[in-house]
Amino acid sequence: MGALDIVLLPCLTDNYCVILHEPETGETAAIDAPSAAAIKAALAERGWRLNHLYITHHHTDHTGGIEELKAFYGMPVTGPEAEADRIPGLTQGVTAKSELSFAGHPIQVLETPGHTLGHITYYFPNDGIVFTGDTLFSLGCGKIFEGDPRMMWESLSKIAALPGETNIYCGHEYTLNNARFALTIEPENEALKVRAAEVEALRASGKPTLPTTIGLEMATNPFLRPQSRPIQARLGMLGAPDWEVFSRIRQLKNKA
Ligand code: ZN
Ligand code: FE
Repeated sequence: MGALDIVLLPCLTDNYCVILHEPETGETAAIDAPSAAAIKAALAERGWRLNHLYITHHHTDHTGGIEELKAFYGMPVTGPEAEADRIPGLTQGVTAKSELSFAGHPIQVLETPGHTLGHITYYFPNDGIVFTGDTLFSLGCGKIFEGDPRMMWESLSKIAALPGETNIYCGHEYTLNNARFALTIEPENEALKVRAAEVEALRASGKPTLPTTIGLEMATNPFLRPQSRPIQARLGMLGAPDWEVFSRIRQLKNKA
């Protein structure tokens, strides 16, 4: 299989749907369904039909388009088995044990609870792409609505363990807001300063800040850097466990 064509489609206020197209087979998939109208228009423009939909978690801004897309394309809908009762239109519930592939491209399911209890992340190892939904954002992470900080930290750690060159697509364009907050947590981080300036410029010209990479996030995202001495020192938490430092950063962001 060759490289997938990838379309990053802004939906609603700040959501993203990602459309994947395998040029050899003509198959098309989407990750999350914030808006059926936006997805149908993007597909029609390219002459593509949706063959598969992958859902990260049950929130309406990721699932609201499922029923209309299903009525139109009749495609199967994969999502977290743990949230099967909360995702209308789901046809296949999956866990970390599930073996999935799209158009010959293997997909690994990572269980990444915390934002919601069933949240999953889709990793395409052969393509070097990961879809992190509302678990990991560029320079940020999702709010912990259903889980606890330790659980969320473990979920983020699973994603952080992927190869550094892996491209990350997230569920929202929150990077500019996240960058401004990140600079208050680690103002001396040179890589963060460079990324923040880049993000300011991209957003000023209306461009997406995604994809990012695991390597870039490891160097700049304060939520993945609780082991940073300058961060620990600033928070008065030198030597504290990673998940506790992470938890404090999450609390500060909630109040920011
Ligand atoms: Zn969400
Ligand atoms: Fe969301």
